[in-house]
Amino acid sequence: AARKALGQNFLFDLNLTRRIARAAGPLEGVTVIEVGPGPGGLTRALLMEGATRVIAIERDDRALAALAEISAAYPGRLTVISGDALETDYARLADGHPTRIIANLPYNIATPLLVGWLGGPWPPFYESLTLMFQKEVAERIVAKPGGKDFGRLSVLCQYRTTARKLFDVNRSAFTPPPKVTSSIVQLIPKPRPEPVCRLEVLERVTAAAFGQRRKMLRASLKSLLPEPETILTDLGINPELRAEQLPVEAFARLAARLQQ
Ligand code: SAM
Repeated sequence: AARKALGQNFLFDLNLTRRIARAAGPLEGVTVIEVGPGPGGLTRALLMEGATRVIAIERDDRALAALAEISAAYPGRLTVISGDALETDYARLADGHPTRIIANLPYNIATPLLVGWLGGPWPPFYESLTLMFQKEVAERIVAKPGGKDFGRLSVLCQYRTTARKLFDVNRSAFTPPPKVTSSIVQLIPKPRPEPVCRLEVLERVTAAAFGQRRKMLRASLKSLLPEPETILTDLGINPELRAEQLPVEAFARLAARLQQ
């Protein structure tokens, strides 16, 4: 596969990769799942910082030799899975052990991977996600209502987790440098997201509301509800608001009503 399709921008600076590993907190006793280890700059840092076990999923077999060397330096602690991160059963890999996902993600599949980790049974199999995204995506993940960055991804992430941006990483840190600045984001699952709703329904609500983000909710939600105005008023939501003005919790209230 072409380099570009695989999103291959590697980190070789051990100071930086160790900083990313440390940002995920103490790793003793923790199983780390890493997506896309490539030649293993971050993988090595995770092991140096004390991860009890690292399970790394890589699709490009050209990385296997470098990863085998790291594995030999840390006997019994690194498992490399040659496969597609989008087809991986993560809960099965975690196998009930305390698990964190830490990765410099391939940017073309970063959002679908994240949305996948936010779905499924809750609380999830992981304690935290510490992930590198393009800065622009990182800003959408942590955005608060009231601005153009606040959208579907903000709502899905902040409904189920506490998300914060930790630090930016300059393009020049990567080989080859990508076009844009990157940022590390950390997401910690909320034990009990409230009000309770299914994530698929929340996805439908946010798709409708942000699909026509210039419109008031009473108009943008028409594709979803027969009489949006009545239901919105009933839920204590002003029907004249636009999607980007609505708090995360109000989206969840709408989803909870819709799934009844
Ligand atoms: N972690 C390494 C680092 O920081 O130097 C590499 C990060 S690079 C941005 C993304 C890596 O993900 C590449 O090694 C690429 O081959 C791999 N990759 C891309 N698509 C993948 C997929 N669907 N499943 C697993 N790995 C994938």
